[in-house]
Amino acid sequence: MHRFLKTILISGSLIALSGCMSGKMSPQQESSLGAQQERQLLQKVKLVRSGKYYNAVRNVGSRIASVSGRPDFQWRYHLVNNPKTANAFVLPGGKVFVYTGLFKYAANEAELAAVIGHEVAHALRSHGVKSAARQQKAGLVGALLQVGMSVAGISKQTAQTVNNIYGQSATLGYIRPYSRQNETAADSIGLMLMAEAGYDPRAALSFWSKFSKHGQRVPEYLSTHPAPSNRIANIKSLMPQALALYQKSKYRKYR
Ligand SMILES: [Zn+2]
Repeated sequence: MHRFLKTILISGSLIALSGCMSGKMSPQQESSLGAQQERQLLQKVKLVRSGKYYNAVRNVGSRIASVSGRPDFQWRYHLVNNPKTANAFVLPGGKVFVYTGLFKYAANEAELAAVIGHEVAHALRSHGVKSAARQQKAGLVGALLQVGMSVAGISKQTAQTVNNIYGQSATLGYIRPYSRQNETAADSIGLMLMAEAGYDPRAALSFWSKFSKHGQRVPEYLSTHPAPSNRIANIKSLMPQALALYQKSKYRKYR
């Protein structure tokens, strides 16, 4: 049994877990499951709590939370000290973790907002919980490991993330938390969130283009994430709508 799975089972949250397996959880159940996973993760990772990257994560996070339409979520943003991992993920109920390695690609707050918007969108759509329920039904070993785990990267990086956090190796079948459909939805919703939060949505194009060149690509059918060309085409098709939101953003007057 996976160590993390064991920890979850031992530490309880049985109501949340049974809800999770049916794929139907109340917002309260999601929130308590996310909070519990957050506590466990915080014991395992080393956080950065000051400096420009930290300030950027907090700043972008609070602006995106303010336009999320879900003030009832307990939005939290953590910066994990791991310069080798260019990634981010979210736990149910809105606990976002960003790795310092992401700043190799996120050159400014707007580019960071593309990633945080994407992760917040997964949380808003409960993708983590639904995906865990699907995997549970499919009988995949270790499905609970992925509850709420979204990664703004490719499968290989997802594997690294799982490795880094849990110190265990992960196989490809093990690490596909979300469908490509969910990834595309997170890109689309994330784009609107960043625009509404006053970040130029064109930064999503620059970020995802740089990011897609990072690391080794796996064929799209093996990857949870859309092929870069599809991802960029989707974002481009939504750009007029996103730019309109950006023009109207309440945050623009503060700049
Ligand atoms: Zn994602």
